[in-house]
Amino acid sequence: MKKTFHLSMLVLLFVSPQKDQVWTANIDQIRHAARIIPGKAPLRINVLKFAESRRTKNFSVKGAPNEPSVQARTVFQLVYADGYVMVDSGMDQQVHNFFGRGVVEPYDAESAKQVERAVRGARAILVTHEHGDHVAGVIHTPFASELASKTILTRDQVQTLLTNPQMPEIKLTPEAAGRYNVVDYEKYLPFGPGVVLIKAPGHTPGSQMIYVVLASGKEYLLIGDTAWHMDGVRNVKGKDAPWIQEDENALMAQLNWLNGLYKTEKNLFIIASHDDEQRTDLIKRGILGNKLE
Ligand SMILES: [Zn+2]
Ligand SMILES: [Zn+2]
Repeated sequence: MKKTFHLSMLVLLFVSPQKDQVWTANIDQIRHAARIIPGKAPLRINVLKFAESRRTKNFSVKGAPNEPSVQARTVFQLVYADGYVMVDSGMDQQVHNFFGRGVVEPYDAESAKQVERAVRGARAILVTHEHGDHVAGVIHTPFASELASKTILTRDQVQTLLTNPQMPEIKLTPEAAGRYNVVDYEKYLPFGPGVVLIKAPGHTPGSQMIYVVLASGKEYLLIGDTAWHMDGVRNVKGKDAPWIQEDENALMAQLNWLNGLYKTEKNLFIIASHDDEQRTDLIKRGILGNKLE
């Protein structure tokens, strides 16, 4: 009787879905995927900060000191010779206020206007994940229907936005969801010349990283909110923010992978969306442009 039980357990183990495996990725496969769509690679990447949240560093990096820290709210622009792709879409002031939780935090209306102009002028819009500070600019905006047809959302992102949005302003109805380009992929999705989407659920179910190789050969990995500050990657430390629910195991696997790349790949710039110190440093070094075109 006992033996039968064990055998059936064994069968269950063999058929357990791939989902239970720890997250991993392979940079060589990603580099290969970046070259399979013909065309000229992007020329440069720009960043623009349009708002800030003030949170002490211990929230962004577990075990960090309780010292003041700025979380920059940003968008990125991948500039090709004949057009550009936006990575993340900004948010209006109403959604920004949600993050302040009663505290008024800096919101630069002029920069936010530039973000709005940029998403409207983009050939395509990608989002790193389905949180309001990244996706509201293509949902909670008077231009939503115009933007939807050139916005690429993943099935997992749409699922969260339909059933469990971070705030009511970004909830999608099934009808609205139908206007976006919805994609699904297993691990990597070649998006265009030099650009690959990397599935990375953890911070949210729909999180993805975006790999970019420029025509110059410089490589970038836009990691969204996998880490809020690069110290999370450098020290392999997760966040300590009780108001978000993350898949801790997946996230630690991602931080480990990123830490390995950080130490060995000197031509690859790993970029965390909200790290204001890193943003300032990379602009100063000419790795990122400090404007939207
Ligand atoms: Zn987030
Ligand atoms: Zn964020």
